[in-house]
Amino acid sequence: MALLRVNSVSIECVMGDIADQPGVGAIVNAANARLLPGGGVAGAIHRAAGPGLEKECGPLAPIRPGEAVVTGGHNLPNPYVIHCLGPVYGTDEPAATLLADCYRNALGIAEEKGIRSIAFPAISTGIFGYPVEEATGIALKTVVEETPRLRSVRHIRFVLFGNRDLRVYEQALGKLQAGTPALLIDLDGVLYVGEKAVAGSLETVQWLNGNGIPHLFVTNTSSRPGSALVEKLARFGIHTDEKRIFSPPVAASQWLATHAPGKAALFVPEATKAEFGRLEELDRHAESGASSVVIGDLGKQWTFPVLNRAFRLLMAQPKPLLVALGMTRYWQGTDGLLLDVAPFVKALEHAAGCEAVVLGKPSKAFFDAGLDILGCKPADAIMIGDDIAGDVQGAQRAGMKGILVRTGKFRPGDLEGEIKPDAVLDSIAELPDWWKESVKLP
Ligand code: ADP
Repeated sequence: MALLRVNSVSIECVMGDIADQPGVGAIVNAANARLLPGGGVAGAIHRAAGPGLEKECGPLAPIRPGEAVVTGGHNLPNPYVIHCLGPVYGTDEPAATLLADCYRNALGIAEEKGIRSIAFPAISTGIFGYPVEEATGIALKTVVEETPRLRSVRHIRFVLFGNRDLRVYEQALGKLQAGTPALLIDLDGVLYVGEKAVAGSLETVQWLNGNGIPHLFVTNTSSRPGSALVEKLARFGIHTDEKRIFSPPVAASQWLATHAPGKAALFVPEATKAEFGRLEELDRHAESGASSVVIGDLGKQWTFPVLNRAFRLLMAQPKPLLVALGMTRYWQGTDGLLLDVAPFVKALEHAAGCEAVVLGKPSKAFFDAGLDILGCKPADAIMIGDDIAGDVQGAQRAGMKGILVRTGKFRPGDLEGEIKPDAVLDSIAELPDWWKESVKLP
């Protein structure tokens, strides 16, 4: 079963009999002009509904191609039947418009009746001869386009009668899904600042979930493990799992396994070490023998001896690789701005005469790895963050759109530089409205 969610409406396709759809508010009849039983869909519906349906239909007939009328469901498990007359292919013109009218008018009636779920057959594709591929494109495009206007309809089901038709629908739905834009969300400064949630962040995440918008929480935090971030989000009512948290340690452990196998000297807090999985750690006092020197946000644990040990490791032969878990310069703590990873990496690069491999924002390799997880092309992805350089510029350089929020570390001066965000929002609370306005739906 294929499923697409657009504007809080789920669109699915299943194989089955349109006359056997319990739990659905209205089924749609691929009717004939006189609203008589006949064969195909109409025959199946009238047989299941009983003679009462034909009687109720009498005074409503005839209808014109593209038109829709509603009756009760009689003996059917559904309260309503919406009868549409599809165009006869090659006769009723313009066929595409008339077919789209059927879906649009049926949804209009469903809205008037306050119906939550509706099931459609593949109108006109039987004896009316409309080629299935063409008709499927029109049906899906029309219902997707209608979704922003729907208030009561929340589930749209296409009931296909055979395997071949189901496959055509599944493929068309799959294509729509593939173009679905995905969102990368920075955590600190966007969803929360320190221990305080940003107003509206919970509602926005619920909106993302409700609309099936693929997303990852992307953080340069290397001071806390993913599990701690999941717990922190839960305290704000935001429930997610570790797989949705994409951080430099996750990216680095994968990357180091192939690019610098051997012992890694980890300059990260103890709690984060588990994130590196099976990566072998160098003895914590050793001053040589590292394949890589990995620099994370050690915060207050940075002391002269600690920084100097990293320097000595880098000066040893054979030279290890210097790996930076992000290149964030500073972050907004509860008591003011705090130094992050970049200043320490810069000091080490300068002293040891080497250049770090960056696995974290704003490196393109890092964003690419995140998009791989989402199965999304950069052009279809949007990053939202409070860091004009790390989030917005990094995303734009990776081929994505970058949105800046005026929360967290945002300073008005950020907008005076060369980097031009694709949008500037007061906070993440404004994202749903922006999205509805600006993101092209499939
Ligand atoms: P039309 O006259 O609009 O072409 P048909 O009823 O002849 O309508 O067929 C429309 C589509 O519905 C065809 O693909 C047909 O295979 C399919 N179909 C036929 N019977 C059923 C049924 N009971 N449930 C769902 N789909 C059906």
